[in-house]
Amino acid sequence: MMRWKIILLLFGVLLTFAFANAQINYIDCNLELQDNSVIADITLYLKAESAVNYFVISMPFYENGTVLSLADSLGEIKDYKIEENVLTIRTNSSAKRREDIIKLKVKIDGLAEERFNNIYFVKFSLPAEQKTKVSFRAYGKRILGFDTASGFRGSLKNGELKISGLGPFITSFFYSEEGRRFGKFILLNKSNLTDEKIGKSLERASELYFIVLAVLGIELDANEFAVLVLGDDEYKEKINEYSEGVYSTGGLIVIKESAFEKKEAPAVVLHELTHEINAKIMAWNNSGTSWFDEGLAKFVEYLTKKQLGLRTNNLFYGVVQYSDAQYTYTLNPASDWKLLKQYYDKNEQFMLEWNADNADIREFGYAFSELFIREYVKEKGFGALHRALRELLKIKQSVNTPKEFSKAVLEALDTKLEPCKRESEKKLLSCIRELNRFNPEIPETKVLIIGVEEQEVSKKPNMQALRKKLLEEKLNVFSEMLMQLLEALMRSTKSALG
Ligand SMILES: [Zn+2]
Repeated sequence: MMRWKIILLLFGVLLTFAFANAQINYIDCNLELQDNSVIADITLYLKAESAVNYFVISMPFYENGTVLSLADSLGEIKDYKIEENVLTIRTNSSAKRREDIIKLKVKIDGLAEERFNNIYFVKFSLPAEQKTKVSFRAYGKRILGFDTASGFRGSLKNGELKISGLGPFITSFFYSEEGRRFGKFILLNKSNLTDEKIGKSLERASELYFIVLAVLGIELDANEFAVLVLGDDEYKEKINEYSEGVYSTGGLIVIKESAFEKKEAPAVVLHELTHEINAKIMAWNNSGTSWFDEGLAKFVEYLTKKQLGLRTNNLFYGVVQYSDAQYTYTLNPASDWKLLKQYYDKNEQFMLEWNADNADIREFGYAFSELFIREYVKEKGFGALHRALRELLKIKQSVNTPKEFSKAVLEALDTKLEPCKRESEKKLLSCIRELNRFNPEIPETKVLIIGVEEQEVSKKPNMQALRKKLLEEKLNVFSEMLMQLLEALMRSTKSALG
């Protein structure tokens, strides 16, 4: 008998007090970066289908997180628990309502991971669902760069990050208190080279930045990009054995020291910067496929070398030879045209899921991807590429398989992944030869700036200023040589006289 009474009593309580598992409509979060922890100030805007006396919500909670304060529109909330990293909150009861807010302040320790000496990496998420609107801000330290889930746009100004969008929210970013500005870049120098030596290449890369804009037609709403330079040994250990530079998710370009000993350093920097922008355009790409990304980056690298007046090796066919007063140089082609022919003869498809990880097809894949972009731009123009990239920018759903990824990209481009595929060997070779000679003018470009607010601007490459600078540099080298010659001459004259 007693049991029935309790059940009836409970039933009665349920009848009088309606509650709902709340839907989160909108989340606003301010993340303050401190020395040893971060403080997340989160406001959750709740909504229910019908009016309720109180709301119940459960959300994943942060490892090493502590609740500093918790309140709703009625005041402090005492009824909450954290179990196995899930925070369950029951709001205060009152007259029935359909909306409420929860203000939650959390301290999280150990969220920032020191990836490199004094350079920290943070990965942070919020309990947003498919239709949840999120606005996020991070500040307190100088943020160097960022990445987000698809459906979000970010702006990075003077080290402060703002992100907004819809859907499951996750962001990653790097921050540091070090860094010295050269042109558009913040240099974090962990190498043996001087800041000035690297800075010169970064300034040159800034002057040639318009090449990236001309290729992508899209730019980030960010006023600086971070470049970390590591000694070659540390680079090999922490990044990989084969590359000169890499774009690290979370917004950091990492380049090895020896790359800055060469004249093509600005081309390496702009190659990685292209990846940084592509990571925002294709934030939905979780397929691990990178032929399109690498093709664009290699194309930017190629155009940059051309603008710097440097020789580049051919793709697939044709040895390049040149000499100065002392030496003769030979540049072998990147990959072999016979491999390309074989790829088509055997109806291979592996480029549709290619990435640079597989050493056996690495060189081939880079050359193939670049050839593809060169042919595309030559045949259809920069404008077609820009239109396709803007289509890709609209994708919000995560893409997880190589097949789906390549389908989406090739549909946007309206083409097939078959550069220089021709019916005869002769025609294939002549296509390769033509693309090796392809050296387009860099056009004036309508650039879409993507960030919390989007806008379009027109950018004209300032070629004259650049050519003047390059010429000045050559003249400086020349006059230095002349001075040395004169000095040597004077010395020999003196000794002849003496
Ligand atoms: Zn790359």
